[in-house]
Amino acid sequence: MKLHEYQSKKIFERYEVPIPKGRVANIASEAKQIAEELGGRVVIKSQVLVGGRGKAGGIRLAKDPKQAKEIATDILGMEIKGLPVRKILVDEIVDIDQEIYLGIINDRNFRQPVVIASSSGGVDIEEVAQFSPEKIFKLAIDPLLGLQDFQVRDIALGIDLRREFWKQFIKILRGLYRAYIDSDATLAEINPLVITKDKRLIALDAKMIIDDNALFRHPELMEFRDLDIEAPAEIEAQKYGLSFIKLEGDIGCMVNGAGLAMATMDIISQFGGNPANFLDIGGGAGAPKVAAALRIILSDPKVKVILINIFGGITRCDEVAKGILSALGDMKTNIPVVVRLVGTNAEEGRNLLVDAKIQTAETLVEAAEMSVLLSNGGAS
Ligand code: GDP
Ligand code: MN
Repeated sequence: MKLHEYQSKKIFERYEVPIPKGRVANIASEAKQIAEELGGRVVIKSQVLVGGRGKAGGIRLAKDPKQAKEIATDILGMEIKGLPVRKILVDEIVDIDQEIYLGIINDRNFRQPVVIASSSGGVDIEEVAQFSPEKIFKLAIDPLLGLQDFQVRDIALGIDLRREFWKQFIKILRGLYRAYIDSDATLAEINPLVITKDKRLIALDAKMIIDDNALFRHPELMEFRDLDIEAPAEIEAQKYGLSFIKLEGDIGCMVNGAGLAMATMDIISQFGGNPANFLDIGGGAGAPKVAAALRIILSDPKVKVILINIFGGITRCDEVAKGILSALGDMKTNIPVVVRLVGTNAEEGRNLLVDAKIQTAETLVEAAEMSVLLSNGGAS
């Protein structure tokens, strides 16, 4: 889950990483009010989950509350890289002397958190990495030992930070690291971390990504979820405890078990078809869960056929069949469904489906072949 700048800043604040004074708003008149509270000069920042807002015109300075309202109106009417701006952050203006990059990422090559720092902050860090890699300093942190004092000093040295700023920098990096670890983040980034004209270090921008698989441990972060931008299907899937990933094809898949789901997708590809999704309903799914899964698949307009592949162990095939029938009854769809059931109560399950005139297949190969044929407009 990506967090908005204003949300990441709230977390930073808890870890004593200094941020500019400011507040989030969703109407222009509020921006004016906040500007008045902050003494007039403010920066208005669109809150959208993409980078490069500055270049796209989504970050502008206002010299007084009246102008703050005008700019807020403009920005709230914008779309940045296809995303509508629904919120703005109104922050006090900071006079910048230098812009630094400071980030922590979960690095899969190092298999550790890696601190990345650069004296060339503010701009796109990928570009710096590509064109002037010597300006990027990287250091892996052993998560069991944590961030050591000598490492923090190495990083400060690595970006040629002047001694007078070390004390502030050390506190910020330590705070950022704790925020990253405590939140189960895969990224915590400050770009730019600025040195102000009056020699203070402040996080001007903030970005965090939280590991979705750890969200259950963070009820306090759940409220940050931006339901506007998450795909409704994925929200629905999460509600029912289904593992769902949308893909680009037209054959909807419903399978129990992640491995079997992958095998099913492979066999579909083998026959020249394209899966529309990965969906694992898990073990022991009852009828309501199956019905929810089917509704989620059917909500994708690209889906031309649905392949259901169930290997009943704990999952009972008759329960699955009941779920399928109940969902199809509710949705009144004419999208063909091909079902392969084996294992516990398969016979009962198949009989229920046959009575309702739903196609069943004996083997996975047969089911996949039939689905691909149907997705190509073939006769059933
Ligand atoms: P991004 O473009 O989405 O990464 O948004 P940032 O928050 O990083 O802002 C982009 C740029 O806007 C920064 O690198 C700064 O140069 C500028 N900026 C943002 N806030 C301020 C501010 O308070 N004062 C000044 N002078 N510039 C700012
Ligand atoms: Mn930035």
